Parts: sequence; C-alpha cells; structure tokens
Amino acid sequence: MSNVKTLEGAVKTEEGIAVNGVLLSPIVDKCDTCDRIREFEDQKFCSSYPNPARKWAAGRCNFATHMKAEAGGSAKVNPLKASKRAARGR
Ligand code: SF4
Repeated sequence: MSNVKTLEGAVKTEEGIAVNGVLLSPIVDKCDTCDRIREFEDQKFCSSYPNPARKWAAGRCNFATHMKAEAGGSAKVNPLKASKRAARGR
C-alpha cells in the first residue's frame, strides 16, 4: 500500500510499541512524507525520535527531511537596519 519501511527492532508491549525498551509515540501530521517515518502494525513511527509530537512542540523538527528549504533565518534582512538605511537615503 505504501512504500514506507518497517520499523526495525520494534516489539509490541502491553504499553505500546517499543524499540530497545523505549516506548514510541506515533508520528504527528507534520511528519507526513518525512523519510524517517517507519511503519509497524498499521501505525507510523519516527526512526529518529520516540516522541515526534514533542519534537514539533518547539517548532520545526530539525530532522525533518521533507521541509529543509524553508529553514531561512540567516538571509533575512534586519528590519531595523533596513529602515535606517531607508531614512538616510531620503
Ligand atoms: S524526523 Fe521529525 S519530521 Fe521526520 S518523522 Fe521524525 S519527528 Fe517527524
């Protein structure tokens, strides 16, 4: 159905899906199409983080493979400097 890889080393425990004894939470909507998504028992997990929701809580996941281009930041114009420059030019 999908070409998502299976989560390696995953086992089903009473509390949920775990890898090496670490419980995993399913991915969140924002993870969609990320290359790190793995499938197990019809659920999707992240191969890099046990808790994707927490990864996204602080902003964009820094390991996301599907939205690198929008990182931005450094190329941004400093609005204060830009307005000073505009004022001088008048
Ligand atoms: S790397 Fe980040 S975006 Fe990709 S599946 Fe994991 S938590 Fe989601």
